[in-house]
Amino acid sequence: MSAVIIDGEAIAARIKERLAKEVECLKSIGKAPHLVALQANDNPGSRIYVANQKKSCEEISIRYEVDEQPINSTQDQLLKRIEELNAMRDVTGIIIQMPLPEGCDSRTLQGRINPAKDAEGMCPANVGRVVLATSQAALMRRGVPENYDEWLRESLTWNMPAPAPCTAVGSVELIRSTGIDMYGKHAVVVGHSEIVGKPVVLLLLAHFCTVSCAHIATTNLAEITRQGDILVVATGKPQGVWNGYSAKFKKWQKSPEKSKKPKKPDLSALIKADMIKPGAVVIDVAINRLPKALDDNGEPVLNAKGKPDMITCGDVEFANAKEVAGWITPVPGGVGPMTTALLLRNVVEAAKLGG
Ligand code: NAD
Repeated sequence: MSAVIIDGEAIAARIKERLAKEVECLKSIGKAPHLVALQANDNPGSRIYVANQKKSCEEISIRYEVDEQPINSTQDQLLKRIEELNAMRDVTGIIIQMPLPEGCDSRTLQGRINPAKDAEGMCPANVGRVVLATSQAALMRRGVPENYDEWLRESLTWNMPAPAPCTAVGSVELIRSTGIDMYGKHAVVVGHSEIVGKPVVLLLLAHFCTVSCAHIATTNLAEITRQGDILVVATGKPQGVWNGYSAKFKKWQKSPEKSKKPKKPDLSALIKADMIKPGAVVIDVAINRLPKALDDNGEPVLNAKGKPDMITCGDVEFANAKEVAGWITPVPGGVGPMTTALLLRNVVEAAKLGG
């Protein structure tokens, strides 16, 4: 039987609807949310990201402002600017746009944001709160078992009273949306980054899953993923690296005697259907932009408009995986919209804390 497709767009839309009402209330008591994006680059990708953030904020009447800084700013200059934004009472949320100018360290800058204004929920204090929330949850499980699930949902996800890592919370919310009882389930997380993998592991522990975390050094990936009643995948790595192949191939063509013929990259997904436990909940966090296919020279095949024919996909082989999984998120339309909705939620939570 085909899996239930988890509709991240619809769940995110419901979250935003609720947030819009909260924004109205906050405005009426003089605590209007106001997100400032600190930007010190002229990167086209970053500009698109900023435009999308602005649109999402405007949808629910959150004030959004881009704080443009010179693209050659030093770390000290940006730290000083963050201090200034921290001190502004009307600024309730701060987000730092990547990439940063050379010589600037994202962790240092992120760590200087007032934790109560940290829109991404990624400053050390807020990541640490996830660790503490899990211990608190463990105590509650013993104390009030009858309303534990409700309490956990309120305290860890929806009503976490301070900014929390958006993508991780969004991924766990999608698991929760399936209605499965997470208590005692084996959850496998593939990827151990600070932004996704590690906070997801902690949140799953808070739901009393038995958690395995696989990463780049894991040698028996399929063996581990097949054990997951819940499988969260966040690597952003297809089997092979395609960009760069064409140059290597051309170099080899010119003088085949000088180097070994490069192997054509395998663009298939990391997680194949046979690596998934039948009936599992599969959350695909990754967002990969890949060529649909490579031509004989290793260049992406072109579409009808003569442009490289690219697709957006996750780390999971969706078409086959949905015939094995019980629930699965699509890419796009799964975790992505949840990340945006939870970023907005962080800004709203931050506004509640401020003033
Ligand atoms: P990252 O590069 O920081 O981390 C990648 C992780 O994958 C590492 O822990 C690494 O050990 C692991 N990994 C790499 N190759 C592996 C392999 N062959 N087998 C097992 N593990 C492997 O990436 P990130 O910032 O965590 O992002 C991961 C993906 O999630 C990216 O595609 C990114 O675009 C996406 N992402 C999506 C959202 C969203 O809103 N949907 C938000 C953040 C990140």
